[in-house]
Amino acid sequence: MPRPIELGPLARPVRRSMSAQRPGETGTMLPPLIDHHVHLMIIGPDALRDTALAGVVDLGGPLDAIASHARRDGLPKVAFAGSFLTAPGGYPVGRPWASPGSAREIVVEAGDERAALPTAAETAVGEQLAFGASVIKVALNRAAGPVLDAATLAAVVTSAHAAGVPVVAHVEGDGMSRLAIDAGVDAFAHTPFTERLDDELIARAVAAGQCWISTLFVAGYGEPTPEAGIALDNLGRFHAAGGRVLYGTDLGNGDQPLGVNPAELALLVRAGLGAAAVLASLTDPWPVPVDGAVATFVPGEPPATLDEFPAWLASACLSPAEDLEQL
Ligand SMILES: [Zn+2]
Repeated sequence: MPRPIELGPLARPVRRSMSAQRPGETGTMLPPLIDHHVHLMIIGPDALRDTALAGVVDLGGPLDAIASHARRDGLPKVAFAGSFLTAPGGYPVGRPWASPGSAREIVVEAGDERAALPTAAETAVGEQLAFGASVIKVALNRAAGPVLDAATLAAVVTSAHAAGVPVVAHVEGDGMSRLAIDAGVDAFAHTPFTERLDDELIARAVAAGQCWISTLFVAGYGEPTPEAGIALDNLGRFHAAGGRVLYGTDLGNGDQPLGVNPAELALLVRAGLGAAAVLASLTDPWPVPVDGAVATFVPGEPPATLDEFPAWLASACLSPAEDLEQL
């Protein structure tokens, strides 16, 4: 039998308890699996019940609706950003998939920064936090309309950080990645897919501790598009430079399986992540930890090759941690 691939420190061989008389099957225990980029407003609040995902991060939708989904019991646990903060008329205002209330336009008044009252940026951030957001989302899409100016973006970041909450940006179009990195944005909702980041800018992103949510599959939906190539190249160099990669699919965007997407996993491998790095990206507790009583069980022997790794991992299921006996 060939030796299995190296899964790293997050994976442990276990036996799943069935009953005292009948020993359960053997497999691999992993921490809870998280998709760090989904949209419940598109797939619906119940679409991911009974999948292997223990947590999801909703990165944009109507604030009140997403907040009420997040308050419900059961898995996956929902962390959320609330509305997309954007410039007046900016992305995703007017997009057919963006339900009313998905975009929160920040209208900056003249003299805003000198007033004693909260600024427009502080107010917009405060609204999301009041509903329980654990991350703030900004849309920086120059290809689709106006974007926040650097001062307003900086005010968003300062307000979020004052509350101990990270900021994630949708960056699309020339110069948007640099604008976000310069402003101290903590995460990218997508691996940048419209422009190649030079090594110096990637090094700055890594040094700042930025995380990048992969979403490689939706950059081409499995086709070798220019965007898919740019994203693969950017993510490969970000990972090689020590960058923190988070698994995420933008679930709701296009046709994707409900649950863990093996095509996204295969693209992470193509970008140069080994099995241990893929597992780290899929179990990273960003932006908030998931309940530790639940674990992941992958039945059977770990695969012998990286080619088989995505399908093996996509066969995972949720399990109470107490049902898994370490071998
Ligand atoms: Zn999205």
